[in-house]
Amino acid sequence: KVKRKGKEGSKAKTEKSQLHPQPLCSFRELGERYAIPKRMAANIHDQGYATPTEVQLGALPLLLDSPSLYLQPAAGAADVPPHNSDGVDLLTVAPTGSGKTLAFMIPLVHKISQERRTDETLARMTSAIVLAPTKELAGQIVNEGRKLASGTKIKVTQLRKGMRLASGGTQQAGDEAGPPIVKTDIIVGTPGLLHNMLEEEDELKQMSLKGVRHLVLDEADVLLDPLFREQTLAIWNSLSNPDLRVSLWSATMGSNIEELARSTIHTRRDALGAGSGD
Ligand code: ADP
Ligand code: MG
Repeated sequence: KVKRKGKEGSKAKTEKSQLHPQPLCSFRELGERYAIPKRMAANIHDQGYATPTEVQLGALPLLLDSPSLYLQPAAGAADVPPHNSDGVDLLTVAPTGSGKTLAFMIPLVHKISQERRTDETLARMTSAIVLAPTKELAGQIVNEGRKLASGTKIKVTQLRKGMRLASGGTQQAGDEAGPPIVKTDIIVGTPGLLHNMLEEEDELKQMSLKGVRHLVLDEADVLLDPLFREQTLAIWNSLSNPDLRVSLWSATMGSNIEELARSTIHTRRDALGAGSGD
C-alpha cells in the first residue's frame, strides 16, 4: 500500500521528497505534471475513473517522475526498511481491488509512447512484459490496458500458445512457415506460456525480447512462489536490455515477498555472474 501523504505531505519538503515525490491528487495532474497523451487522459475519463485510488496516487508519481526511484511499502509496515536494491525498481503492496492494474499500465503506456518517439527502432519491438499467474488475470490486464491505450499507438496483446513475437528487423518474413509473427508493444501472459516460447525458439532470447525495457510482475508473491518461481526467473534472466526496469505488485505483504524479492535479486545476480553480491 502506498502511503498517501495528501496535504501534510506538502509541508515537509525534506531531502526525502526527492525519493518520495508528491503523491498525485487527481488524474488531471497527470496531464499537467507528466504531459501524458491527451488520448490516454480521455480514456481514463471515459472509463468513469474520477479520482485515482490510493495506490495510484502514490505509485504513479514514483513511476512517472524519475527513472530511478524506490517505493517503500507502507501498508501497516512502516517499519519495513526502504526497498533499495539493484534489480527491482519498485515493490508495491496494496489490497485486491485497489486498482494496481491501472497503476502499472498508465506508466507503461506513457513511457513506451515517449521512448518510441525518441528512438523509432523501439517501435518495432516488444517493449514490456507483464506476467500474471493465470490466463484469466492476463486477460483482465489486457482488457484494461487496451481501454487505456485505445487511440494511441501502443498495442497490448495477450500471449497465446505458439505465438511468435516480432524481433525488430525491417519486415519480418511473412512468407516464412510457422505461426504468424505478432508485433506488439506490451505482451501479457503467464510465466508458463512465455517460458515455453523461450525454450522453443532459442534465438528469441536475443532477438524478440532484446527491446524489453519494462518487466511487471503482477501478483508477484505468486509468481515468486515455488510453483512459478523458476519460470519467472528464467524469463527475467533472459531479458538483456540494460535499461530494464522491474516492478513487483502484490496484495500481500504478510508473506515474505520482500525476502522473495531480495533473494530473487541475488539469484539473478548469481545467474548473471554479476558482482560479489552482498
Ligand atoms: P487490483 O489489481 O489491485 O486487485 P484492479 O486493478 O483489478 O485491482 O482494479 C479493481 C477495480 O477497480 C477494477 O474494476 C478497475 O476498473 C477499478 N478501478 C481502477 N482504478 C480506478 C479508479 N481510479 N477509480 C475507480 N475505479 C477504478
Ligand atoms: Mg491485480
